[in-house]
Amino acid sequence: MTKYIFVTGGVTSSLGKGIISASLAKLLQARGYRVTIQKFDPYINIDPGTLNPYEHGECYVTEDGAETDLDLGHYERFLNTPTSKANNITTGRIYQNVINREREGAFLGKTVQVVPHITDEIKRNMRILGETGDYDIVITEIGGTVGDIESLPFVEAVRQFKWEAGPNNALVIHLTLIPFLAAAGELKTKPTQHSVKMLLEYGIQPDILVCRTEHHINADIRKKIALFCNVNINAVVESMDASTIYDVPLLMLKEKLDQTVLSKLKLSHKNEPNLDNWKDFLGRLKNPTSEVRIGLVGKYVELPDAYKSIIEAFIHAGAKNECKVRVQYIPSEQLTPENAVEKLRGLHGVLVAPGFGERGFEGKIEAIRYVRENNIPFFGICLGMQCSVVEFGRNVLNLKDASSTEMNPDTPHPVIAMMEEQKTIVNKGGTMRLGAYPCDLKKGSKAALAYGKTHISERHRHRYEFNNSYLKDYEAAGLTPSGINPDNGLVEVVELKNHPFFVGAQFHPELKSTVANPHPLFINFVAASLAYARKN
Ligand code: GLN
Repeated sequence: MTKYIFVTGGVTSSLGKGIISASLAKLLQARGYRVTIQKFDPYINIDPGTLNPYEHGECYVTEDGAETDLDLGHYERFLNTPTSKANNITTGRIYQNVINREREGAFLGKTVQVVPHITDEIKRNMRILGETGDYDIVITEIGGTVGDIESLPFVEAVRQFKWEAGPNNALVIHLTLIPFLAAAGELKTKPTQHSVKMLLEYGIQPDILVCRTEHHINADIRKKIALFCNVNINAVVESMDASTIYDVPLLMLKEKLDQTVLSKLKLSHKNEPNLDNWKDFLGRLKNPTSEVRIGLVGKYVELPDAYKSIIEAFIHAGAKNECKVRVQYIPSEQLTPENAVEKLRGLHGVLVAPGFGERGFEGKIEAIRYVRENNIPFFGICLGMQCSVVEFGRNVLNLKDASSTEMNPDTPHPVIAMMEEQKTIVNKGGTMRLGAYPCDLKKGSKAALAYGKTHISERHRHRYEFNNSYLKDYEAAGLTPSGINPDNGLVEVVELKNHPFFVGAQFHPELKSTVANPHPLFINFVAASLAYARKN
């Protein structure tokens, strides 16, 4: 029978529920359990696809094409197992399902209410992955902070779920903050007590408290929290700020979070967790033998969460190369033909980021012209790849005013354009090519060499495509279409001949980079940047 763990948060947001959930899952997985993590978000959007990255960080895309919360990226990076649309549910989705059923007449004239109809639908969704039989343990992270109006139906659903599951089948981990008051020189437990009190008001006694803190919490503080919050002392878990999120599983291991969880769920903990590969990764990450500076040219540079998966992919690839990757954010809006040299000076590689809309587009083109002409390693992702096609069209093929029809619908040379069959779909989100698609790589290409194979599958999130009527001209001039979708002939990878590393990918390789499997294109891009750094 599947066991369920719920993770709630109190006191404040941004305590890192996602990392704690992923770290616990990693420890359980390392003991041989089959684990998945799902996130329930209390906002009304049906999914995060329409959310501004400034507000909500990156939109993470799953194999089956769901646009999801960026925490799912952490789940995949830690566990190295794919998530799906079932792993991220919002209030909007829950209400949409209930309202659709109401319109179908499924409630037989009854009044449709938050309790029981919304809470029933939440519980049904909480069980979906558990009922596949694929998992021993399902961890459900509840977004938001306990006490928020929006979270209430989820918290009530957790209460009911736990009661229905019976003892030892479900437990609640509550993540709180133990602030340090510098003036008093003390760690304060009161916010935690209040937060637990609020959970108790909703009928939930948390089983385990994970306490975020900047200083060690000593035995006295642990005792105090245990007494006032009605938990065992070994269920008070310290979660210190860490220098990297990848330390957190080991910190939780030290606090015996996994053992406490397994005891409460009456599961065996005789297998010690096997974390050899994880520790090997951490060893490389923390002991780099070299360093590179890579420019990340994008428009959401003020909020690094907007490029979360790219940053993490660099961490994985850097560790693999035993090389510290210093990512320097470069706002594309500020790049002009006049200042590109100055702004990009000293970089050993440039990644042009994905994105939507016109803002910063011309700056990205300038960055690409500079790295192409100066043999600096270049990696373009999605919009970044499209920009490399536009740049090459304008400056090498002399296609005046070549562009993407997203930026200039009237361009005389629509080298990036929307495919005919997409044009009929009008809903926002509807026209997008989303999720995993196959791709065949040209033998001997840089991409094929990186992957070590020619059939790959990668995830997409875009509307526009390379316009194949220009394919021959590009190929003849040296920008090779080295990755093609075998089903529809769309260009998925372009790369430049006679350049140390110039690769553009229409898909999002960063979404598939994990600790166990750093992405080959990132590994080779970092290696090329390192080679460039050594020569220059
Ligand atoms: N805006 C581009 C498109 O829709 C690229 C999207 C992206 O970079 N994810 O095709």
